[in-house]
Amino acid sequence: MNREKLAQEIIDTCLEMNALGLNQGTSGNVSARYKQGMLITPSGIPYEKLTPEMIVYVDNDGSFEAGKVPSSEWHFHLACLAARPELNAVVHNHAVHSTAVSILNRAIPAIHYMVAVTGIDHVPCIPYSTFGSQALADSVVNGIKESKALLMQHHGMIAMEVNLEKALWLANEVEVLANLYLKLASVQSEIPVLSADEMRIVINKFKTYGLKTE
Ligand code: 13P
Ligand code: ZN
Repeated sequence: MNREKLAQEIIDTCLEMNALGLNQGTSGNVSARYKQGMLITPSGIPYEKLTPEMIVYVDNDGSFEAGKVPSSEWHFHLACLAARPELNAVVHNHAVHSTAVSILNRAIPAIHYMVAVTGIDHVPCIPYSTFGSQALADSVVNGIKESKALLMQHHGMIAMEVNLEKALWLANEVEVLANLYLKLASVQSEIPVLSADEMRIVINKFKTYGLKTE
């Protein structure tokens, strides 16, 4: 795909992310694999003001175009793309329910079979580090190696998929699960979960589910 088209897809993903209620203001950022690096949203610019020329190319060595400032989270975006070569897009946001669960520092357990969309039987929560830091990128990598989506303590969530459309879909699924989890946690502390055996079956089914639409 050419650069302008991919940059426009990144902008469209950001706009849809906010329209879905997954994010607000200049929080969050989106990237997609491109050439020997990635294209990523610029730092601190409201999505409605973005044009394709404002999307920043960051090379695999961390160098970027002069005169542009990539998202402060470019470290973890680049690290995610390096850690999961089969996946090509990263979506980060501060979705309210996901962020609330991250503040409780809890993983979302197998409360519903859809948890398997992460590729494992829970949505992990990685430990807090300052936004934009290499330390945060290091712990994001640990999480993303095991799961396509994760919560970041006191911060938000990350979802990674084969393309931007699927990454946004995954982010939305995680937010639905986080909402469900909070509702359950507010009525009782012991929440029923699916067995490890059943989750193994569902995780395997998801390996082929929906492939026709790719
Ligand atoms: P940027 O505007 O620099 O992408 O930062 C937003 C954010 O969510 C930081 O974690
Ligand atoms: Zn953030």
